[in-house]
Amino acid sequence: MAHDNTCIFCKIIAGEIPSTKIMETERTYAFADLNPQAAVHALVVPKDHYACVSEVAKEDPSLLAEIVSTAQAIADEHYNGHFRLIFNTGENAGQSVFHCHAHVLTGQKLEGE
Ligand code: AMP
Ligand code: ZN
Repeated sequence: MAHDNTCIFCKIIAGEIPSTKIMETERTYAFADLNPQAAVHALVVPKDHYACVSEVAKEDPSLLAEIVSTAQAIADEHYNGHFRLIFNTGENAGQSVFHCHAHVLTGQKLEGE
């Protein structure tokens, strides 16, 4: 499904809900997380609606590669190229928005895990 009218991230991509844009590519959009966990905390989403990262990997692997490239570009622009990439997948893993999104944490040295 390209666009889900009930999805908050589809509304952000459509400009119906405001966001702080960090970067955009042909098929991805990156914006600031409302509740940042690092100096730079971006969410990178495919512009088309996919429920989770596994769905993207299965249906369009090159789109998953583009999400990773966008994360790298954010880390290059805002830090030294180092970043942490997290895809919460499924409710019990902490996924609360069911439009695939990569959490990109960068902008500082990250400890642990
Ligand atoms: P997850 O828990 O992995 O599904 O991540 C959802 C993330 O979306 C959380 O880190 C929220 O802070 C973030 N979030 C929810 N609504 C918005 C919004 N309108 N703008 C930016 N970030 C949001
Ligand atoms: Zn969506």
